[in-house]
Amino acid sequence: MTAPSECLFCRIVDGSIPANIVHRDETLVAFRDIDPKAPLHVLIVPTRHIATLNDLSAGDDALVGSMFRRAAVIASEHGYAERGYRTVFNCNREAGQTVFHVHLHLLAGRGLNWPPG
Ligand code: AMP
Ligand code: ZN
Repeated sequence: MTAPSECLFCRIVDGSIPANIVHRDETLVAFRDIDPKAPLHVLIVPTRHIATLNDLSAGDDALVGSMFRRAAVIASEHGYAERGYRTVFNCNREAGQTVFHVHLHLLAGRGLNWPPG
């Protein structure tokens, strides 16, 4: 596991790397993706360092639920609740995970192809 001090998203959570933050509470931070793949592209991350989906435990169920519920709130705040949006977790190499701190992608604002690439 990446040491949190070396983890990009831990550093965004602690404020030592700037980000365009759209939501912050005790357990979650949500910020704009630096290389957006849709008009709205937000990453929702737990404040606690968890490397991948494989590292979640039963005690994290409420945390994961809150990530999805926050995605729905942010989508709604930006006017996409009815139009539609996508939420994605990438896990490990073949799924394209590049930052090893769990994050939920929220994408909206254009037609999103299915299946994804
Ligand atoms: P993934 O490929 O699922 O691990 O997603 C990592 C995401 O983090 C990518 O969409 C990147 O564009 C995004 N990203 C990388 N560095 C930053 C940063 N400093 N601030 C915001 N988003 C970032
Ligand atoms: Zn981290």
